[in-house]
Amino acid sequence: MGILLKNGRLLDLETGELHSRDVLVEGDRISRIGEDIDPASHQVHELNGNVIVPGFIDMHVHLRDPGLEYKETIETGTRSAAAGGFTTIACMPNTKPILDNPELMRYIYDTTNKTGSCKVLPYAAITRGERGEELTDMEALKEAGAVGFTDDGVGVQSGGMMRSAMERAKALGLPIVIHAEDESLSGKGCMNEGDVSKRLGLPGIPGVAESVHVARDALLAELTGVHLHVCHISDASAVDVVRWAKGRGIRITAEVTPHHLLLTDEGIDGTDANWKVNPPLRTEKDRLACLEGLLDGTIDMIATDHAPHSEEEKRRAFQVAPFGFVGLETAFPLLYTELVEKAKLLTLQQLVKKMATAPAEVFNLPGGTVAEGGLADLVVVNLEEERVIDPATFASKGRNTPFAGWRAKGWPVLTICDGKVTFDRTNSK
Ligand SMILES: [Zn+2]
Repeated sequence: MGILLKNGRLLDLETGELHSRDVLVEGDRISRIGEDIDPASHQVHELNGNVIVPGFIDMHVHLRDPGLEYKETIETGTRSAAAGGFTTIACMPNTKPILDNPELMRYIYDTTNKTGSCKVLPYAAITRGERGEELTDMEALKEAGAVGFTDDGVGVQSGGMMRSAMERAKALGLPIVIHAEDESLSGKGCMNEGDVSKRLGLPGIPGVAESVHVARDALLAELTGVHLHVCHISDASAVDVVRWAKGRGIRITAEVTPHHLLLTDEGIDGTDANWKVNPPLRTEKDRLACLEGLLDGTIDMIATDHAPHSEEEKRRAFQVAPFGFVGLETAFPLLYTELVEKAKLLTLQQLVKKMATAPAEVFNLPGGTVAEGGLADLVVVNLEEERVIDPATFASKGRNTPFAGWRAKGWPVLTICDGKVTFDRTNSK
């Protein structure tokens, strides 16, 4: 018995057209795509014309597990991912303890097997404890399943340390994934340095705190030949550096978050820490540079930087509250509504490529397409359904989002990962 998706519209990633199709899933594969597949004894999901696209892939998620389970667990974080249409996510190593040894790589895989609702690929730390002092055992971490190396949450301050990490990662064939932040420039800043921070009297983080690190690491990537991936790009000059580096033939890729594509520091009033994130929300010029970078291919993909915190933590004063937004459950509806439907800056096809196909290609992962014989990682979205974003309804433990109250269309109704239903709002029989 298979899972039959009846009366869907399948997005053609080559042409952008939608074709009325049935899709049959058997085992972990898509066994057939046809115009009218016999229901036979299959479990049937009536899609009523909803749109079938490849399962989304998010290369930047904080699952907070182990050690910070009051913020999120692998179980709740992956359920949140499935509800947002994601079938693969990469988790960041700034847990407690830091994911800097092979045992913890195995913990992530084992716990995902037991409680997960999507695939989880762990990143391992570049330096022990993310302290920037001593490299991890990168060979053993690769052996245990690390998908790449990052000290996300903090920047690696020493260029020499970064060069050594890149040389070893290059030899192992794995990427170095950077949180670009020169701490001597970002200091104690809690928001973007500019007119708004001055008006509010809050310490700022200048855009160059990000772009000088991107420039340093782009040049080190040229020297070492490693694949360098730049996390959550937010600053216009950092986008320019990536564009320049790509033009030079440097092996560099980059991601941008939904919030840096949709929001600016103008929305910050200095009291609500649900607007506090790192890198910070920047200016309209930066936001437009990120959009331009996404459109011209400088920025390869969209990643959420899903970063759950407790309500108590986010109620603290703006200057002391932790950085970060949740993002898994709202990423597609927000981007579809704001950039595809309203602004018409992206097509549905381009958005799906940035959220599924590109991460699969860049990180050499399965998925990213919906094809006969291919892996059954897919999501069905209802492009007409409009809802108001209500954090109380999130599967994530985190409620920290600046998008509460926004109206958005394009909600996932069915997610299938490795041939298994991981999220379902259809009436199946
Ligand atoms: Zn980061």
